Amino acid sequence: MKVLAVFMTLLLVTMSAYGEFGHASQVILLVVDGGDPEVLSLEGFPVEGQGTAVFPPMTSTGHISLLTGVYPSHHGILANEYNDEQKTRTYTSDMIEAKTLFEILKENRKKGIFISGKKGLAALAGATANLTVSPDSYPVYLRDPPQDQEGLTRWLFEAITEIDIREHPDFFCVNIPILDGVGHTYGPSSEECEEAARLVEDLIYSLRDSLDSETALIVTSDHGMSSVSKTVPIHALLRAAGYATWPLHVGRCAFLYDVEEGAREFVSNLEGVERIVEPDAYPTLHVDHESAPDLILVAKKGYLFIPEPLLQYYRGMHGSFDEQDIPLYMTGAGISSGYVECSQVDIAPLVVELLGLEPGVAFDGSVPQVQEKKVQGYGILVVAGVVLYLIGRNLWR
Ligand SMILES: [Zn+2]
Repeated sequence: MKVLAVFMTLLLVTMSAYGEFGHASQVILLVVDGGDPEVLSLEGFPVEGQGTAVFPPMTSTGHISLLTGVYPSHHGILANEYNDEQKTRTYTSDMIEAKTLFEILKENRKKGIFISGKKGLAALAGATANLTVSPDSYPVYLRDPPQDQEGLTRWLFEAITEIDIREHPDFFCVNIPILDGVGHTYGPSSEECEEAARLVEDLIYSLRDSLDSETALIVTSDHGMSSVSKTVPIHALLRAAGYATWPLHVGRCAFLYDVEEGAREFVSNLEGVERIVEPDAYPTLHVDHESAPDLILVAKKGYLFIPEPLLQYYRGMHGSFDEQDIPLYMTGAGISSGYVECSQVDIAPLVVELLGLEPGVAFDGSVPQVQEKKVQGYGILVVAGVVLYLIGRNLWR
C-alpha cells in the first residue's frame, strides 16, 4: 500500500503541473513575422504548443486577428491589400472593424505599446496604441535604428527594454520582421534563414532571462513560410485569354473579382492551381465579409501568384493553407506549464485574462486550455498502468 500511495502522489503531482492561467502585471506579445515552426524553435519555455494562423496567413490578417481576438470576417482585414475597383490598395487602420487590445487597455486605464520592425504595419496595427514605435518614428531616448536586418532586430529588442524602463506599459505587441524578409528572399530552408532564426532565438532567450516576476511573455507568429520556385502569373494569363476578371495577389493565394462566364473553368485548369475556394466555404474559413472576393485560388506546393518578372525576388512565400502552422511559446507571470493548441484569435482573450481586463467586447476566440505536455502524457499513462497493476494485485490478495 505504501508503494501505491507513492505512485498516487506522483500521479497527482504530474497532473497538477498544468492548469489555468493566472495573473500578470505586464504582457509582452512577441510576433516573429514569418517565423515558421520549422525554422524557429525555442527550448525551456513552460508552455509550448501549436498555433494556427487565420486564413489567408498574411502579415495584416495575422496581426489584426492577434490584436482583436476576432477573425477576418469580423475585423474586415482580409489580406495585406484590397481591391478598390480593380486597383490594389493597402488597408488603413480606419478599416479595422473590431476593437483592438490597445483600445481595450485604454478603456481599462492601462497602457499598450506597439513596436514594429515594419513601417507600414506600424500605421495599420499600431494606430490605437498609446505609443507606436518603428524605424520611422521612435522616442528620442532610443538610438537611431541600423539599416541592416540584423542591426534592426537587435534594435527592436533593445527598444523593448528601454521603453519598459521609461514608459512602464501594461502591454507590448512587438513585430520582429527579419525571418519574413530573409524567408522571402532566400527561402525558409536556406542557411541565411537558419542564421537569422538563431539570432532571433538568442535575443528571445536574453529577453526571457531579463523579465521581472510580474511579466508574461508570449511568442508566436503572424504566418509561416513555404519554399517557392514557380509562379502562376494569374493577371497576365487572364488577360491573354481575354478575360477582364481581376486578381488580387495574396502570396500563395489569389482573390478573384468580377469573375466572368468561363473564367472559373479557365483558372481551375491552370498549372499550379491546387484548389478553388467558393463563397459557400468562406464561413468555414472565416473570410465571409462583404468585401470578400468572388473566388479564391490556392496555389500548389512550390507555386505562388506573382507577375513572372518578380519571381526572381522570392524563394519563400505564404498565404495558403500550408503556412497556417505557427509557433507558440509562453513563460513568466500567470503562465503555468503544459501544452497549448490555439488559434490566433485566442491570444487577445488570453492577454485580457492575464491582465484581468474588462474587454467590453465579444471575441471569436477564447482563453486556450493548457493540456499536459505530450511527453508528460506518456509518463501519466505509465504511472496509471503501474497503479492499476498494484490495485489489481492487492485485490487478488
Ligand atoms: Zn508577415
